Amino acid sequence: MGSTRTALVTGANKGIGFAIARGLGAAGLRVAVGARDERRGEEAAERLRGEGLDTFAVVLDVTSEESVAAAAALVEERAGGLEVLVNNAGIGGRTDGGAQDPTTLDLDVVRTVLETNVLGVVRVTNALLPLLQRARSPRIVNVSSNMGSLALQTGPVMAAYAPSKSMLNALTVQYARRLADTPVVVNAVCPGYVATDFTGLASPRTPEQGAQIAVRLATLPDDGPRGGFFDDDGPVPW
Ligand code: NDP
Repeated sequence: MGSTRTALVTGANKGIGFAIARGLGAAGLRVAVGARDERRGEEAAERLRGEGLDTFAVVLDVTSEESVAAAAALVEERAGGLEVLVNNAGIGGRTDGGAQDPTTLDLDVVRTVLETNVLGVVRVTNALLPLLQRARSPRIVNVSSNMGSLALQTGPVMAAYAPSKSMLNALTVQYARRLADTPVVVNAVCPGYVATDFTGLASPRTPEQGAQIAVRLATLPDDGPRGGFFDDDGPVPW
């Protein structure tokens, strides 16, 4: 409680989410470390506390209505409010056997990826909005990918993952328009190609580097951009 601003980061037990949690903690926020696995979440929160940051773990599986509702209740109980929500949790989905080749697309993979990367974001956002709307300068950051950019068409062909991020981008615009007359600022970011378990560590770019753009958008001034899509170099074309 008190005047400390609180941020919730989903999928914060590792990778880019962990680095975002660390960055927001270093920026002076109390950070709720969202993780679907209780032990992994506690370990991550503990590690950040060891670095002098103010954190607590929140069990949060974005695919579960019950888990998300319980997480929202815990954040309210522990922090009394929420200033920043970073929807970071995401999955690439299986690619074996042509599962994400559009011509042999495995629809179960599509369903699984959409459930986490798209419906999960809506579920979490809508559960936390009442808390965010009570904050002075609320921010929502959706961690997307330039693979979701229809203009750029970058990355490998992944017919479940890439469209999931296109839809996340479209939803970011819908939320930003709906909340345009409120203090809630909503944007999407691309972290770049970052070495994590997701990519199999095949990049020189670190999670800390990938986290920077999300931290920047999460701590924007009140007159900052709304409904945009950004990476380190500025706006990304949709
Ligand atoms: P990681 O695989 O390293 O981390 C993903 C995180 O999401 C983990 O904490 C994971 O938890 C969590 N997660 C997965 N499913 C759920 C769920 N149902 N509920 C809650 N948490 C869940 O990936 P990255 O750090 O690389 O990716 C983070 C985000 O960045 C994703 O949205 C990804 O699409 C995006 N991105 C990544 C890029 C990259 O180059 N790495 C490039 C562009 C975008 P658990 O440990 O339990 O599996």
